[in-house]
Amino acid sequence: MTKRVVLIGHPVSHSLSGAMQQAAFDALGIDATYELWDRTPLQLAEAIAQLRTDGFLGANVTIPHKERVVPLVDRLTEDAHATGAVNTITREGKRLVGHNTDVPGFKVALDRLVGKQKMPRQAVVLGAGGGARAVVHGLITEGFQRVIVFNRHLHRAEALVRHFGKSAAHMELRAMPWHESVIEAELARTKVLINATSIGLQGDESPIEAELIPPDLLVLDLIYRHTKLLRDAEAVGCTVMDGELMLLHQGAAAFTLWTGQPAPLELMHRKLIEARAGGIRSAEGEPVGTEPATAETPAGSGGTPA
Ligand code: NDP
Repeated sequence: MTKRVVLIGHPVSHSLSGAMQQAAFDALGIDATYELWDRTPLQLAEAIAQLRTDGFLGANVTIPHKERVVPLVDRLTEDAHATGAVNTITREGKRLVGHNTDVPGFKVALDRLVGKQKMPRQAVVLGAGGGARAVVHGLITEGFQRVIVFNRHLHRAEALVRHFGKSAAHMELRAMPWHESVIEAELARTKVLINATSIGLQGDESPIEAELIPPDLLVLDLIYRHTKLLRDAEAVGCTVMDGELMLLHQGAAAFTLWTGQPAPLELMHRKLIEARAGGIRSAEGEPVGTEPATAETPAGSGGTPA
């Protein structure tokens, strides 16, 4: 019987994840399909319940459900528990296990961004959603000593800081209000800037004014495109990276969790690049399309390459 893996989000539209996962299943001779399920928050519990039935290998979970899905699974892995966010679900019989492969994906991206330099100890994080939680957990476990989180709604950044209270007890993890002068002052004393907001996902906006960016920062934008933030940072001499590597490695880790097999990384990377060139857009890293997402769409259907 063909097994099913679904991406649950709202909207999901066309998906880069679909392109790379389906290609990986096919290449390894795994009889499975990767489907896109557009589900509103109200429909989430029912969608998760469906995964308990035979035929499902598991799921990916994306915007805006990563935190909401936590109480709907039966067990959380360490990264999912630590972040309070789930982006991958596997089955143990009828029980569901929540994982967070954004964490290892982020760490691969951070390592590559830092390169041969010594791992910095200070970072500024913009955003306080599910992506930001993976980032902050990754920074804490990498040994960062000072991490400042800015968010439009301060209470959400404060909740994030409270969530990491224990694991961050040895370091300085603070939420700060989104004021340009405060952001500017913090950027002047940091080494790493990470955009984990969705500003730049739709349209060509940057979360911060170009003038606030000092030279020589390491800048990672979780969004999978060369955003205005990255272009502005590059223009003043920063080293920059977009969300491609994180997307690839979170996907590879999820593939291994579902199948028990090493992911065909090169193939998945090639498919990501092809899908992006072919105009497929991602729930994780690119603006969603203007066309309405269908309720249950096999990845790559509708004339777009898988
Ligand atoms: P969430 O919906 O959980 O969080 C969105 C964040 O963006 C919140 O901090 C929100 O602030 C902020 N935000 C949204 N719109 C605005 C705005 N107009 N002005 C100011 N702040 C805004 O999403 P995720 O955390 O899951 O994802 C965030 C980004 O990270 C997305 O772009 C996603 O594509 C990317 N991502 C990429 C991954 C990869 O593998 N490359 C993995 C995970 C995420 P507020 O709380 O105030 O609403």
